[in-house]
Amino acid sequence: MNIHEYQGKEILKGFGVAIQEGIVADTADKAVEAAKELQKKTGTGWFVVKSQIHAGGRGKGKIVGTEQRGVALAKSVEDVKTISTNILGHSLVTAQTTDKGKLVRKVLIAQDVYYPGETPTKEYYISVLLNRAKGRNIIMYSTEGGMNIEEVAEKTPHLIFKEEIDPKVGLQAFQCRKIAYNLGLEGEALKNMVKFVAALYKAYESIDASLFEINPVLKTSDNKIIAVDAKVSLDNNALFRHPDYAALRDESEEDPTEVEAGKHSLNYVKLDGNVGCMVNGAGLAMATMDIIKLAGGDPANFLDVGGTANAARVEQAFRIILKDEHVKAILVNIFGGIVRCDRVAQGIVDAYRNMGTIHVPIIVRLQGTNATEAKKIIDDSGLKVFSAIQLQEAADLVKKVLQ
Ligand code: GDP
Ligand code: MN
Repeated sequence: MNIHEYQGKEILKGFGVAIQEGIVADTADKAVEAAKELQKKTGTGWFVVKSQIHAGGRGKGKIVGTEQRGVALAKSVEDVKTISTNILGHSLVTAQTTDKGKLVRKVLIAQDVYYPGETPTKEYYISVLLNRAKGRNIIMYSTEGGMNIEEVAEKTPHLIFKEEIDPKVGLQAFQCRKIAYNLGLEGEALKNMVKFVAALYKAYESIDASLFEINPVLKTSDNKIIAVDAKVSLDNNALFRHPDYAALRDESEEDPTEVEAGKHSLNYVKLDGNVGCMVNGAGLAMATMDIIKLAGGDPANFLDVGGTANAARVEQAFRIILKDEHVKAILVNIFGGIVRCDRVAQGIVDAYRNMGTIHVPIIVRLQGTNATEAKKIIDDSGLKVFSAIQLQEAADLVKKVLQ
């Protein structure tokens, strides 16, 4: 689960990670109030207005049809008002969104932390993630912060460092020092970076995160080390351990069909193809998507209905699949192990009748217990449903209906 920058920063702060202070607002008037309050709290006269959407590249991105950037410096409270008005309620297009962009519902009004002083400011990159191949967390870091890290990885990979953490002993103090040292820091800034990294990793472990990406981490002109940005993803499989984080979810940032599928406990992921899939079991779902490809189609979704493929569930699944207007055919591929094929077939027929007409052809492949009885139920139903027992037959039918 992804969360917004302002939420991520709040969590980090709770673990002692130094952050760029800010207050979130959903109207321009509240943005002005936020700026005034920040001014009182931090003494800052300059602010940054930051669009809160689940996508990066906001600083370079623009509000649709305008020159307004998604992250912008405001040199006065009046500027905060103008910029917030330009951004709120409009769509922001970045390298990570579609051409339509994402609607900005909230802005984070943050203190300016790039003020001039004794030493120059410097941006770093730090992320924490799981290296699946090694089964260990790693801290990835670079002196080349603030910019597109994918580009750094491609053009100057030697400027990206990795520090692996042994799960038995956790992150060690010497590793934090090594990171700060490799980033070229010294004195007060080095000390602050050591603290920053230790606190960041503690937060990562404690909240069951699946990704932290802090870009930039800033060394201020008075040698503080602070998180200016915060991309925080939480591990969905561990959310049950953090019930209070459920409130951080922003459903408006998610695919609406996926949200609805989730409410029915259907494992649905929308894809870009034209053949809808309804399958029991994730492995079979993957194999089914391959078969669709081989037949010349493209899967419109991944959908695992799970163990109970009864009429009610099948109907929910049909409804979810059919919300996608690109769907030209639906392939149902169910293996009857614990669930009997004839039961599933009856479920499909009942669901179909209950829904009235379904305007796309449906191919049903049922294999396993009572597969022959199941095929008969489908064939005798008089509905526009094609049945198959062998996977190849099903693939051929998909090919046929797509022609
Ligand atoms: P992203 O573009 O979505 O990654 O958003 P960031 O939070 O990283 O902000 C984008 C850029 O805005 C940063 O790389 C900074 O250069 C700039 N920025 C952020 N905070 C400040 C600030 O306090 N003052 C100034 N002058 N620039 C800032
Ligand atoms: Mn950033």
